[in-house]
Amino acid sequence: MTTALITHADCLQHVTPEGHPEQVARLEHILHALEPLDLARYTAPLAAEDDILRIHPAGYLSGLRKARPQEGFAQIDGDTYMSPGSIDAAFRAAGAVLKAVDLVMAGDAGNAFAAIRPPGHHAETETAMGFCLFGNAALAAKHALDHHGLSRVAVVDFDVHHGNGTQDLLWAEPRALVVTSQQMPLWPGTGRPEEDGAHDNILNIPLAPGSGRAEMQAAYEGQAFPRLRAFKPELIIISAGFDAHQDDPLASLNWSTGDFAWITAELCKLAQELCQGRIVSTLEGGYDLNALAAATRAHVEELIKAAS
Ligand SMILES: [Zn+2]
Repeated sequence: MTTALITHADCLQHVTPEGHPEQVARLEHILHALEPLDLARYTAPLAAEDDILRIHPAGYLSGLRKARPQEGFAQIDGDTYMSPGSIDAAFRAAGAVLKAVDLVMAGDAGNAFAAIRPPGHHAETETAMGFCLFGNAALAAKHALDHHGLSRVAVVDFDVHHGNGTQDLLWAEPRALVVTSQQMPLWPGTGRPEEDGAHDNILNIPLAPGSGRAEMQAAYEGQAFPRLRAFKPELIIISAGFDAHQDDPLASLNWSTGDFAWITAELCKLAQELCQGRIVSTLEGGYDLNALAAATRAHVEELIKAAS
């Protein structure tokens, strides 16, 4: 079996103002780093409007469409901008994760990585924030549950920021387990252990600023992996943010590139044990271009090893 890579050139048409960390160059660096790898490459379709409406209300979608600028930028939140190409990019990003789920569920790929932007895990039901427009990981989970008929799907979010959007979108979804680790304190400020979902279906794991491999491994081996084993997901979705990297300018965890390889390999082993290796990973943050490219490559190389 192969690892699928799903992306689309439209994701490079979501442009942010000069100096904004969530920039076009992020995806360019990643695609360049993944170029030599043996991947089954797919072009992301546009998600259907009905897919987006599975997680966001119609008023939210029409509000975004109204906010879309004809040129330049529209600021829709303190740090979230739209350019003329942002809506299409967001529909491709959502389409990429849907395609990734379809490929993995059909057995056409062992696992899959969606190299997309804008990212998704901060987008709440009715609120675009933190560079995110649509909740891609939550959408992938809902699609796997509702369209593919799965009973249990897990989302694992190792982005350095709390996946508040994914938490909000799946808060009352008993068929989804959300496991999210984040530096705390850090924007957006949520992600305390007592935020545990309407059905005890959210596991928040705060990590102290300055902490690194030992604390991360202890948290995942001690809390995340046992919880995943107990839940027995039929698919694992990864919100793959690489901003816990020690070189990242937006946060202060000290993960190395090798730590991203470790966590990916461990999640692949768990997926092998629990759900025939099924993993769908989607890009979230990561803002040092070189660290982002290296960590993403390490992540995807582990996916490839696990699928082959
Ligand atoms: Zn982040």
